[in-house]
Amino acid sequence: MPSDNYKGRFAPSPTGPVHYGTLVAAVGSYLQARKNNGEWFVRMDDVDTLRIVDGADSDILHTLDHFGFKWDGEVTYQTQQVDSYQQALEKLVSQSLVFPCTCSRKILAKTDSKIYPGTCRHRALAENEEHALRILSQNFDIKFDDVVMGKRSQNIERQCGDFIIKRRDGLFAYQLAIVVDDAIQGITEVVRGADLLDSTPRQIYLQRLLNYPTPRYCHLPLAIDDLGNKISKSGGAAKVETNDREKLLISSLNFLGQKAPDDLVKSNINDIWSWAIKNWNVKYVPEAMNIKHI
Ligand code: GLU
Ligand code: ZN
Repeated sequence: MPSDNYKGRFAPSPTGPVHYGTLVAAVGSYLQARKNNGEWFVRMDDVDTLRIVDGADSDILHTLDHFGFKWDGEVTYQTQQVDSYQQALEKLVSQSLVFPCTCSRKILAKTDSKIYPGTCRHRALAENEEHALRILSQNFDIKFDDVVMGKRSQNIERQCGDFIIKRRDGLFAYQLAIVVDDAIQGITEVVRGADLLDSTPRQIYLQRLLNYPTPRYCHLPLAIDDLGNKISKSGGAAKVETNDREKLLISSLNFLGQKAPDDLVKSNINDIWSWAIKNWNVKYVPEAMNIKHI
């Protein structure tokens, strides 16, 4: 019986196949959900349609299935949720928190800081000129206590600035989309790679403005390669070898600090999962980035 409160999710972008870094994130979020008798959803982060690779979604699902992940309900797609993003946007507009920004990348690159200088803050919403939509940042300290990474705090105005919620090309930005998705599904804990740790305060900020509950956050260490680079699809990381699934699953468990017994490697995939679900302890997940060990 799933517990009536835990809801977790795995939200890959269908921009390429499952690589080692994605596998680790999937394993961590899956085990955390199963250990808590919760539900685990798979959601395709395809809001950025320009980056989608044809067939990558089914390839990812096939790999997850082959590794023995069992997700709850139907897989959802952000491209089917655009109306919900629009409603959330309108809610923010009605609070006078949204402004159109016509600054080009080139102009912004000339400013010293990475933080948006507020140039268009007082511009009225105009239909005719190509623009992105930004949310007004405010002098709030957003604090959260990450399950793995500990206490974090970020001042939205000083450390983040007015950020984009709808892009110049008309696509909704990841930050807004993901917050709406998590609210719609009633996600209670977000388990994902630490590359998104820095996005979390922006997401919590949006949740507060939209009156959504804030889930717990649990950021997993990132898998990096021998040169210290993040293993990522954009970095051209290789697809996981699906004929090595037992070894790769055990490697992911060890990467996440779960000390798999040596003879587990002789077990079949179902027995490895049984061991993992029974013995998973999020307290063992290390904070630091680790070198990939396979
Ligand atoms: N789609 C994002 C990624 O692949 C994850 C988004 C999230 O978990 O919030 O890195
Ligand atoms: Zn601007």
